[in-house]
Amino acid sequence: MLTLDTREAWTQFLQFAKKHTSKTAYENWLAPIRVLDSPSDSVESIVLEIPNVFVKTYLLDNYKKDLCAFLPVTATGEPAIEFVLKKTTLQQKEPPPKPVAPPVEEELPYKVKLNPLYHFENYIEGPSNQFVKSAAMGIATRPGCSYNPLFIHGGVGLGKTHLLHAMGYHLQANQKKLRIQCITTEAFINDLVDSLRNKSVDKMKRFYRSLDVLLVDDIQFLQNRLNFEEEFCNTFESLINQNKQIVITSDKPPGQLKLSERIVGRMEWGLVAHVGTPDLETRVAILQHKAEQKGLHIPHSVAFFIAEHIFSNVRQLEGAINRLTAHCRLLGQEVSEELVEHSLSELFQTAPKQRVSVENILKSVSAVFEVRISDLRGTSRTKEIALARQVAMYLAKEMIDDSLMMIGASFGKTHSTILHACKTIVGKVEGNEGLRRQIALCRRNLS
Ligand code: ADP
Ligand code: MG
Repeated sequence: MLTLDTREAWTQFLQFAKKHTSKTAYENWLAPIRVLDSPSDSVESIVLEIPNVFVKTYLLDNYKKDLCAFLPVTATGEPAIEFVLKKTTLQQKEPPPKPVAPPVEEELPYKVKLNPLYHFENYIEGPSNQFVKSAAMGIATRPGCSYNPLFIHGGVGLGKTHLLHAMGYHLQANQKKLRIQCITTEAFINDLVDSLRNKSVDKMKRFYRSLDVLLVDDIQFLQNRLNFEEEFCNTFESLINQNKQIVITSDKPPGQLKLSERIVGRMEWGLVAHVGTPDLETRVAILQHKAEQKGLHIPHSVAFFIAEHIFSNVRQLEGAINRLTAHCRLLGQEVSEELVEHSLSELFQTAPKQRVSVENILKSVSAVFEVRISDLRGTSRTKEIALARQVAMYLAKEMIDDSLMMIGASFGKTHSTILHACKTIVGKVEGNEGLRRQIALCRRNLS
């Protein structure tokens, strides 16, 4: 049995790593790792179950020193870890794949349709998408050699299609001989329906199975399409068995799709990467990039203002820029905060208010402003403490759906003190980029 100490050491390593990496990287790489009981009663090593071999490389490339600090080490100073690959349902149930016949050359029936704006250079990177972007770039450089299949999942409008097309472009431009197909799941189904109607299914099968790279968008549309699912799965297996690259996007992780165990297992086999909602800084960078593409200049503070109010979907950020561009041209005005409020207010989202408590706000403000919670609750008038306290009140008014009286009471103050604090902060934020960022950071910690 593994000693409690080793398990505890791993937990401590995870806690350490969590603080030193982005949430997305943590969720993608570290969270899926499990500690197994050691078969040899050894306390000198630890057995880690990993979903794929890339996790091992990632762990050793990025955390070797820290692993040595937390876990047992070998005589040669390496972390004493035994890696065990997790058995997927597929690996457990199915014999190894049979080699397939060499592909038959077939002309591409139509040109790959890619959105001309979806290049890697136009994809702004931040902690929420760094991981998936680097996996995508790895594939675009060396298809079939690393993560295969790559499964990208995440909410609407977060850039999954953008990345898929960016891979397509990069491959088309740099490896001209490759046979690439980039297709939505709906189009795949339509192709299949057409070829059934025209009695040309064999031709279609041959075509798909002769590809070097298959990029499939929105696999969730394969749910509840049983007949098509089977054909897709056959194509998928045929390509994977020849080491041909497959990339799939989806709005959910494989395990949550209502698809057969066989195909879910296949999709989980390679690298499953999540693309999250971008943080404030990334949203600002995206906004500025999109504005530049449209020839619109937006001051940094205005970009911040928009990014603070539109936070869950990049497509909406784009919509905001389009609308702003139109308003500026029509009214012949420069971009300003007033114009933004006037033209975009209905696009602005309000943060969910219910879950935030004064307690949480104090914690977040105390961490960002580096003051003690007891000072925030106290009466000290030291400049730093007073400012942090006012920020806490400002955030409480903004984020808590309660009367000013109630909010005041939680701070041991009157409602007019809260109002005064809010006015002061609104005034101070104007022209104070540093304070604006600190407040944004508190908000982010709370959401
Ligand atoms: P999804 O397929 O995830 O629903 P899309 O790829 O269609 O999202 O992206 C929606 C829009 O947002 C596209 O115009 C895309 O260019 C843009 N977009 C999303 N993420 C980014 C990003 N990180 N950088 C630049 N543009 C982005
Ligand atoms: Mg899409």
